[in-house]
Amino acid sequence: MEHSRVNIHKDDTVKIIAGRGKNIKEGRRVLAVFPNDGKVLVEGVKVVKKHVRQNPAKQIKGGIADQESRIAISNVQLICPSCQKPTRVGRDKGVRVCKRCNASLDKS
Ligand SMILES: [Zn+2]
Repeated sequence: MEHSRVNIHKDDTVKIIAGRGKNIKEGRRVLAVFPNDGKVLVEGVKVVKKHVRQNPAKQIKGGIADQESRIAISNVQLICPSCQKPTRVGRDKGVRVCKRCNASLDKS
């Protein structure tokens, strides 16, 4: 089984370091990760207007909705919940750890 080497997980807080959104100073929450594409969806980053087709069966109103676009994982850096700084991710026995302060980055 192929093991994903992606170090960013859903619900992580990340800083945008390149591309669209790099001027955003605060951390943003990761909404979804697409390891096969090397992409992530980050809350409020690269929001585009998307035309939504009306679908009464699913109670979807037609119109224009805001929708985040996927950005490259290489453009984001994880913010460590312990030291509150953008950090590189290390691994210790399969657990993600902060390379600055060695704190575990995984919740459990
Ligand atoms: Zn840290």
